[in-house]
Amino acid sequence: MLFEVRYSDLAGRIGKIKTPSGTFETPAFIPVIHPVTQSVDVEFLKKLGFEAVITNAYITLKQYGETAREKGIHKLINFDGPIMTDSGGYQVLEYGAIEAKPSFIAQFENDIQSDICVPLDKPTGYGLSYEVAERYVNETIRNSQETLNLIKSNSNRNSVWVGPVQGAEHLDLVKRSAGLLDAMGYEMMALGSPVQLLESYEFAILADMIGTLKSTVMSKPIHLFGAGHPLTIPLAVALGCDTFDSASYMLYARDDRYMHPNGTSRLDKLVYLACQCPICINMKVKEFVSLEHDEKIDKLAKHNLYVLRSEVLSVKQAIMEGRLWEYVGQKARAHPKLMEAFKLFMNYKHLEDGTPFFKKKAIFFIESIDQYRPEASRLRRIFSSFKTNKKKIVLFPDTQVSPFYSSQEYHKLSRKFSDYLICAYNPFIGIIPTEISDIYPAAHNLISTKRFTYNNSNDYPTFVSSLQKFLSCNFFDDVIIVADDFMQGVVSDMQIISKKIEIIKYSDDIIERL
Ligand SMILES: [Zn+2]
Repeated sequence: MLFEVRYSDLAGRIGKIKTPSGTFETPAFIPVIHPVTQSVDVEFLKKLGFEAVITNAYITLKQYGETAREKGIHKLINFDGPIMTDSGGYQVLEYGAIEAKPSFIAQFENDIQSDICVPLDKPTGYGLSYEVAERYVNETIRNSQETLNLIKSNSNRNSVWVGPVQGAEHLDLVKRSAGLLDAMGYEMMALGSPVQLLESYEFAILADMIGTLKSTVMSKPIHLFGAGHPLTIPLAVALGCDTFDSASYMLYARDDRYMHPNGTSRLDKLVYLACQCPICINMKVKEFVSLEHDEKIDKLAKHNLYVLRSEVLSVKQAIMEGRLWEYVGQKARAHPKLMEAFKLFMNYKHLEDGTPFFKKKAIFFIESIDQYRPEASRLRRIFSSFKTNKKKIVLFPDTQVSPFYSSQEYHKLSRKFSDYLICAYNPFIGIIPTEISDIYPAAHNLISTKRFTYNNSNDYPTFVSSLQKFLSCNFFDDVIIVADDFMQGVVSDMQIISKKIEIIKYSDDIIERL
């Protein structure tokens, strides 16, 4: 099997991809190696734990031609692990059409023994009209079919062929492109040319592109081209990208840009080096800035690689702990454009598929966006369709003690209201019927304050609609709502239809006074 998933959270997956030169763990950052002018040693990349690298087949062809065929790409760049080759699509984007034909490039990638190969594509970039983007997509699809026909009839090497998904911000093109490549039999998908999007921090458009691709092709591994910014990595992984490549470590270094967990800064504008990598720990800013040109670029590139390594490991650890939502949320606060993308997570149904039904740790509910985390949506669906024969109901704020049925409040209420259905409520997960109040995460969540406030129904629309659904599924003759500040806001905004409704303001001794 090409791809084996071991753990997942949201659409992020810890898995393994198998190639002819060995397997590597995902999510993986795949550093770009320049086949001719690479200055950071590949041994260094290996030492940092980058198990796979990517290089450009087109430049390799131009520079080495027949020698590359004889030696193979592994000897040529001195790396014995999995090597991915980009066909040269990026060169198409930068310099217009290139000379080589799709089948010629594909045959070359096969001949140099690339492990993960991309057919010659025509990147849509960003900002093209629909008609032009569609033409590029069609051309890429034709190339991809031609490539696959050639490889099927001509190769006995077990390389992974990757379908290049184009279409950019035209999401229906992304969807069509992904569907066709999937049906052709490509084992892995790659989302093309987001470089311009990323340079302008258009994370929301990127998020929609990944979301569209991922909901079209669920299980195959997904590569994202050109994503090497510390803020892009958690976003891309959470939405379903398994691998991503970039030359950012080097490009930023040449531009004097120093990566940190939340972005980049110009090296000469820094006062302190907060990074703990072996380069920064041994130097002050002044020394770093005054290094000789090539040495400075080399050290800066290596520092940048340490930052990328740390970012990927942090994301993986977050997947293992079931805290990817929290992690992306933290990152989102580093840039308004990333927050904009994070807010779109509420629309992505596919995030539920990878989120475990049970986690070892309690999940955190901090602010209104957290009502959309998959664990909460899933639970609200179960709770709001709960049916009972009881005709009377008491709604009570969720307690500190979980599950609700083990709380003192519940025991006191059940003595006073023995023929009532007793439910807790929680702004993030809605109405919680006591009988099933131990379903994850009803009893496994932490709220920043239990007495939540409510400004208007736009803040917690999921709560309002699940309360409405719950009440309309069951026809209660008698409704008692013990309302905290949050619930008082909710009921003042909505109409509840029942024979008898009592809304009582919450206080610490409320049960005694009922
Ligand atoms: Zn450093």
